[in-house]
Amino acid sequence: MIGSAQTLLNAMDGICYLADAEGRILAVGEPSWTAFLRASSAPAWGEGRVIGRNLFEAMASAEVRAIYRDIHEAVLTGSRPHVCFELRCDAPDVRRMLRMSISAVGDAGGPRAVLYQSQLLSAVTRPWMSLFDPARIVELVRAEAGLPIVTVCSFCQRAASPADDGVEWLDAEDYYRLGGASDVRVSHGACPDCRGRVEWPGGSGPEGEPRTSPPACEGAPLVAAE
Ligand SMILES: [Zn+2]
Repeated sequence: MIGSAQTLLNAMDGICYLADAEGRILAVGEPSWTAFLRASSAPAWGEGRVIGRNLFEAMASAEVRAIYRDIHEAVLTGSRPHVCFELRCDAPDVRRMLRMSISAVGDAGGPRAVLYQSQLLSAVTRPWMSLFDPARIVELVRAEAGLPIVTVCSFCQRAASPADDGVEWLDAEDYYRLGGASDVRVSHGACPDCRGRVEWPGGSGPEGEPRTSPPACEGAPLVAAE
């Protein structure tokens, strides 16, 4: 009566995949995956090459990788049965919001896998922003190692900008409005708001500091947005 895991993955909305305890991809939902590959520049994850790959290896930022590993582990062990958060994942000329949902599949006593589902919430065309153009960024890195580095949060895609009292995280729109440069090297990380929202929803930060970020919809992505 109930189809195989593959059948269910194929029927789900958005980019969906199952990963084992170590993060190796066991299955991906078609046809969304094929459509995603067609629309993106991720040939290394092309047809037939995604199964068996480790999803954490696709994340260039150690900080972002650590956050996803923590969530993966928490879901797998049952300490957080279901994790869900919204993240921004822009293309150079499209402002996109995604909803990432991460949950365990299988019996508590048996083999367990982790299901990742990334659904598109909104996509709005806007003027081109080179901060979100991976091909251009690679080109610039090759051309000029001396360019300034701008850290972009992998979850809200705000850009870190120097401020009087440290660092201010600006929406890309504000970054450009305030004269932010286009010719920069982009590195990815996580802003304090998103760390709180994603890693400690409903609770406090690692040092017990009060959480100031908007609540994540726990109880209710991916290619991680890098
Ligand atoms: Zn953020």
